Amino acid sequence: MPKCSSCGAEVTEEMSFCPSCNASLRSDAITSMIEDARRALNMNPNDLAARYNLALAYKLAGMTELAVNELVRVSEAQPDFADVHYELGVLYLKTGRVEEAKGCFRRVLELEPEHPRARKALEG
Ligand SMILES: [Zn+2]
Repeated sequence: MPKCSSCGAEVTEEMSFCPSCNASLRSDAITSMIEDARRALNMNPNDLAARYNLALAYKLAGMTELAVNELVRVSEAQPDFADVHYELGVLYLKTGRVEEAKGCFRRVLELEPEHPRARKALEG
């Protein structure tokens, strides 16, 4: 469980502000990326661009599991979107899920055979 850096209270990854001292728990830029994307999704849960932005913001904030959840949802709705599979592969690698990561990178190369970062990731 992460802790507030100001007061040490236990906080969750979903929180933008500490409930006990109200300190901001992440950088302002990432916080507003997350809040903008969540607002867009509240208005339209099918807004895949907003969901993808939310996933990237979670990734930047180090909220890996939340980022994975959102990327999985985008990839299911838009299976031909190569970069979603690439980002998912990167996060799976980060969490030690090597076989799942390789599956994602292979999928990227099926969609975009010249995708240089996916090729590099697979060739190690
Ligand atoms: Zn606090």
